[in-house]
Amino acid sequence: MSDATIVVVEDDRNIADLVELYLRQEGFRVVQAASGEQGIEAVRNQRPRMVILDVGLPGGMDGLEVCRRLRAGTDVPILMLTARDGEIDRVLGLELGADDYVTKPFAPRELIARVKAILRRTDGSPRDAEADVLLAGDVEVDLKRREARRGGEVVPLATREFDLLRFLTENLGLALTRQQLLDGVWGAGWYGDERTVDVHVRQLRKKLGDGLPLATVWGVGYRLG
Ligand code: CA
Repeated sequence: MSDATIVVVEDDRNIADLVELYLRQEGFRVVQAASGEQGIEAVRNQRPRMVILDVGLPGGMDGLEVCRRLRAGTDVPILMLTARDGEIDRVLGLELGADDYVTKPFAPRELIARVKAILRRTDGSPRDAEADVLLAGDVEVDLKRREARRGGEVVPLATREFDLLRFLTENLGLALTRQQLLDGVWGAGWYGDERTVDVHVRQLRKKLGDGLPLATVWGVGYRLG
């Protein structure tokens, strides 16, 4: 794996070049791909540190499909570019496993902030000093393996869903506002809206069911346990 390589999958050459320019200023090496097929090929060959993936791509494979296929074979962080607000729920909700999204048009500095936030979250830093497995209701949260288990069975979670579950579990019994959850899980430099939290909470409830005592605290946010 190359720590410095980012694959940018975007058919709009102007946007791809702009993204490349800013990433290069941050010291990254950029490999561009103009279609889904090229993107998958580039990820296979380059083993990048991250993929920036446009939803709208030419040909038979859009960015959502590319994301789904990449997730089947790799846990490389994926930042989606979406053209319309209407795509956001699909990006977040389809269990594709994208790590984050940016809505076009975006300011380059916002994109860079998101890239850095994702890299910070996925740097694999050891957590040896802490307990490895936390318990939230019937759900085991294995910090080292980044797994959620219920009844001994692994419940597959997207990267950010697991991060949210971990943050809630580490703050068991506390009512947390959506802003606190955004800051704690997405990072203080994240520019997204609070709806993102609700989408991910919905996914956690759907996947982990009533084994997860995750309560809505009206007027505040959410509380686990
Ligand atoms: Ca495009």
